[in-house]
Amino acid sequence: MIASEFLTIAGRALRDHCGADSVTVRAIEPTVHGPRVRWDGPLLHRERRRDTIPGGGVWIGPPAGPLLLNILSLATAFRWADGAPRCAKDWSERLARRYRRVFGPTGPATGPGWSWLWEAGAQAVKDAGIPSDFRTSDAKEKYGSARWYVEGDTSAAVDDVIDAVEHLSAHICEDCGAPGRIRQGGWLRCLCTRHAEGRLPTDE
Ligand SMILES: [Zn+2]
Repeated sequence: MIASEFLTIAGRALRDHCGADSVTVRAIEPTVHGPRVRWDGPLLHRERRRDTIPGGGVWIGPPAGPLLLNILSLATAFRWADGAPRCAKDWSERLARRYRRVFGPTGPATGPGWSWLWEAGAQAVKDAGIPSDFRTSDAKEKYGSARWYVEGDTSAAVDDVIDAVEHLSAHICEDCGAPGRIRQGGWLRCLCTRHAEGRLPTDE
């Protein structure tokens, strides 16, 4: 279950990444954060794509595959830490209390399905080193995926984590955390088949 969920989300999130087909799950190891997917991807490109645009400027691709997989592995660990996914009603307040220096006094204002992804993002920012005057000004949903707005100092590593969280959210159900897709409707939302209630993905 853990491996298939990881691979489904990874397959969608890395569909534009070279070598993503080579990604497999090697093991699932217990860690302090929960069961951690250890993956292999011998052909997966390591770097974030940066292409020079003729006439000037640089096109920056989605976050590098290994970073996306590591954040996803961490989010998956938090999600399955208690044996089965469970999310407290006040998950956002709890997250803000636990990661005060990352989120400030209020936690993310999104559905609970992204709670583990936010947690992974906060932990990864902490691991990368929280810049001294780092501040989250808003963490919300927009056009179906997460938006994480920050103020003050950041670092390249922290910026990459933020981009990775935003990118992965477009493939995770905002209601429950299962693999999801951005779906049409009155407003765009990222939902799994169960929560889609017939709404079709935007990419079909
Ligand atoms: Zn769902």
